[in-house]
Amino acid sequence: MKLQLLPSTIDENGRASARQHLLSIVIDDKVAIDAGCLAFSCSNEQRENVRDIILTHTHLDHIASLPMFIDDLFASLTSPVRIHGTRQMIEILERDIFNWAIYPRFSELTNSYGKVVEYVPFESGSRFEVKHLSVQSIPVNHKVLAHGFIVSDERVSVAVSGDTTTTEGLWRECNSRDDLAAVLVECAFPNEMKELAGASQHLVPALLSDELAKLERPAPVFVINLKPAYRERVISEVRALGLGDVEILEVGRIYEF
Ligand SMILES: [Zn+2]
Repeated sequence: MKLQLLPSTIDENGRASARQHLLSIVIDDKVAIDAGCLAFSCSNEQRENVRDIILTHTHLDHIASLPMFIDDLFASLTSPVRIHGTRQMIEILERDIFNWAIYPRFSELTNSYGKVVEYVPFESGSRFEVKHLSVQSIPVNHKVLAHGFIVSDERVSVAVSGDTTTTEGLWRECNSRDDLAAVLVECAFPNEMKELAGASQHLVPALLSDELAKLERPAPVFVINLKPAYRERVISEVRALGLGDVEILEVGRIYEF
């Protein structure tokens, strides 16, 4: 399984920067988890091939480029962009984003090939197929209904926490997978900001350490979703935990599992 966390910002030389305001993870250049920066930083191959976007939740940093991704492809789509989300997420998108006031309601529009958007609802906690992948959704603890996913091809499974604070189900599911090849887990704020992390339901390194104690299976762990303003502090606090197989997921790098 090929996996890439797309960049969402550029540095002073115009190159991709590690500062991550927005989140999109592309799997095998075909399926995206979240569309925070998908339209802004996907490769041409990804733009041509990604037609399935699985949403963890509807916070803006996870959907910000979804309208532009569809807009960009509007005339050329020969099949709709499929948005996989719970019914509640789909209602929020239609009410608050694709409402003509913020952006066009693409679900009411067609191009010369037909529909440009198709909503594909999933039940919270269900398992569903997306292209060549089997996806287990796991509700996690965040300010809105949010999900982590365990994504499996025929060889390996990779867990992605999405945005969450402390949680149980995700780790139970990870522990049940013999083919678990990697776990991507969020850690948004440094320890000092534990209160804000609690209020916004994210993790800090001290909580991450408690969370990883629930992972009973040896698998490399990659930290994602570091708030850019605190990135360096979160990295040094994660390193100071002295946890074995834990690294920060590098923005833009292509990982093969
Ligand atoms: Zn969120």
